Amino acid sequence: MAEYEAVIGLEVHVQVKTQSKMFCSCPNRFGEEPNTMVCPVCMGYPGVLPTPNKEAIRKTIVAGLMCSCTIPHYSKFDRKSYFYPDMPKNYQISQYDLPFCIDGKIHISGEGFSGAPLADKDIGLTRIHLEEDVAKLNHLGKSSGVDYNRAGVPLMECVSEPDMRSADEAYAYLTALKQIMQYADISDCDMEKGQLRCDVNISLRPVGREKFGTKIEIKNLNSFRAVHRAICHEMERQAYLLDDGVVLRQETRGWNDDRGETYLMRVKEDAHDYRYFPEPDLMPVTFTDAEIEAVRKQLPELPVQMRERFVRDYGLTEYDADVITHDKAVAAYFNQTADTAKNPKLAANWIISELLRELSDGGVSISECVITPVQLATLVNLIEDGTISGKIAKTVFAKMFESGKDPAKIVEEEGLVQVTDESAIETFVDQAIAANQPQVQQYKDGNEKVLQFFVGQVMKLSRGKANPPMVIKLLKSKLD
Ligand code: ADP
Ligand code: ZN
Ligand code: MG
Repeated sequence: MAEYEAVIGLEVHVQVKTQSKMFCSCPNRFGEEPNTMVCPVCMGYPGVLPTPNKEAIRKTIVAGLMCSCTIPHYSKFDRKSYFYPDMPKNYQISQYDLPFCIDGKIHISGEGFSGAPLADKDIGLTRIHLEEDVAKLNHLGKSSGVDYNRAGVPLMECVSEPDMRSADEAYAYLTALKQIMQYADISDCDMEKGQLRCDVNISLRPVGREKFGTKIEIKNLNSFRAVHRAICHEMERQAYLLDDGVVLRQETRGWNDDRGETYLMRVKEDAHDYRYFPEPDLMPVTFTDAEIEAVRKQLPELPVQMRERFVRDYGLTEYDADVITHDKAVAAYFNQTADTAKNPKLAANWIISELLRELSDGGVSISECVITPVQLATLVNLIEDGTISGKIAKTVFAKMFESGKDPAKIVEEEGLVQVTDESAIETFVDQAIAANQPQVQQYKDGNEKVLQFFVGQVMKLSRGKANPPMVIKLLKSKLD
């Protein structure tokens, strides 16, 4: 397939986290009994009027600003007409030519789904518009049920430029987009709850040619992994057809996850089939510069900025910073730990290698973690100032994880303070030497590895509390 290059653009729908729906006061809540979160507005009864949700609009502007978009001063809602049971009004209130956000970009870096390193790159964001979500159809054998709880939930559509060139880049773009939405509390982006849904547009062109090929749209992708697989599959399928001289037509295809292949759904409709026109029941929405700047002032730090700060101010490696910022809650936890920890880099190590592992083993999220950031910082400080050894710290950590007790208290109660008294350590060293004469001979014969054996013996005798550098120093001076 060396002779083709993929051109990929993504259309990502993100449900906005709000109290109520987009145009009525029904709760925006997932997982309730079907058709219990409904009212005449979201059921499309005749004669009702929509009232826009201010918070949903504000969060859309936040999303746009987080993605470096321009926020036009004048936007409006439009009707997108179509006939399908998921939309009782037979039109969806959406935005057509004047969306809330235009001309943005999302930075990708790090690695793709396959773990391959990616070159840093900005992916253009054409627009973000706000619309209402539609009802969910539940297919039950020969009949179908319609659940209107989802109808009217605020939904952003983020449309990218056709800037991605591989499945890995698409994966990285989605990861970055999701992180931004979560960091800014715009959406939890839980794909299992349908809070983030992605359509892929993909075409191939011979390497070196500028003109794009015919695009195919793939729908029903319910995980980032499925997006990656679908792109890989579609690249092969299209290359095979193009090699055969087939002229492709614009199609919408579905993704069958079990078979690992796409299938034809329909030949694509044109935009004018939707008969877009301005929504007469809603006023245009206008923003002053001052209003936009007020939102900009309250923007949270972007994940990419936070990564840079952790590397710069706390001495984390790029890799550590990447792991820590992957989840906003973990990043916040580290931020608080680093505030009190004398050695933030060591705190990061403990979060990555101990805390996150324990949490995932126990199936617990970091928000439910019994160890507070201040407690973890205290533990790290106990190591840093030599009160306990790194090894003892693991024991203390395990007890903290069980009981939520303060590390200093555990150390005190269990008598775990590191022994740094030279004469006390000397006693252990003498005991160890006296009890292991054959090993002393081995050491004298030049086997230096035996030193580690003695360190182990002394640690055992001191129940792990002897200060390791002092143990080594004393052992050497005695044995030599
Ligand atoms: P439509 O009018 O069919 O909705 P758009 O031009 O609005 O098409 O583009 C929809 C999505 O498809 C965008 O994300 C865009 O980047 C992407 N796209 C457009 N042309 C191509 C192409 N030739 N190959 C791959 N993706 C494309
Ligand atoms: Zn309603
Ligand atoms: Mg379009």
